[in-house]
Amino acid sequence: MALDAIADTVPPWAEFRRIGTRAAEVDAVLVRSSGAFTRLFELEVLHLAAEVTVYERVRGKTLPTFCPERHINADGSFCLGLRAGQGINSATAATWWTKLHAFLLCQETAAEAGLWPSGAQLSHGDAGDIELLAEQAAAETGASAAYRDAVEFDIGPIAAGLSRINKATGRLRNGRSPCLCGRKHRTGKPLLRRECQCLGCPIELEFERRAAVDRFWRSMSGLQCCGTMLECRLKAIARSS
Ligand SMILES: [Zn+2]
Ligand SMILES: [Zn+2]
Ligand SMILES: [Zn+2]
Repeated sequence: MALDAIADTVPPWAEFRRIGTRAAEVDAVLVRSSGAFTRLFELEVLHLAAEVTVYERVRGKTLPTFCPERHINADGSFCLGLRAGQGINSATAATWWTKLHAFLLCQETAAEAGLWPSGAQLSHGDAGDIELLAEQAAAETGASAAYRDAVEFDIGPIAAGLSRINKATGRLRNGRSPCLCGRKHRTGKPLLRRECQCLGCPIELEFERRAAVDRFWRSMSGLQCCGTMLECRLKAIARSS
């Protein structure tokens, strides 16, 4: 069972206490890259249905009760990554601890700087799946760095290519021109846009990812911003509505 696997792989920075068959408490203090300790995180781990979820034991004590920017869901559960709480067994439990470790370190950066560390983040909601696909596609076309630039800074050739997408279809216009992502045939000849499309063009996937991110934020629009982050789209939504 998932909690047994988690109990068997407790790292030195955590204390794990079983509360029942489906619940446990974790107290965690981590060493930061500066060598300083983090705050004490008092957590609750629940195994519900097929998923392991983590919360603060007393919601809102150390962390916001809800903050999409800090990957804390509306129910207070932590988002440790795409499907991080699913399928935990003796082979994957150590990875779960690694994700929790990264999450807690990021919370300290967020608390002090109002920023989630860049590169440590996968897109919110469904956009996370699309981002993984786009990363694979970009790696195949040798455009991995360009893809990161598009996601994190909205610059570079992939970000520029977005302006050539037909917003109604989500496809690059001028299907018979060479694709803007730079994908080539094995012969070295550039792939046409409509050929690239079938393989998953990183530019089109990035367009899709951004649409999914927008949907994610719109689905949160009734909820309140925690105010701890410099930038949060909930603030903008609250201002505009
Ligand atoms: Zn927030
Ligand atoms: Zn998240
Ligand atoms: Zn392409």
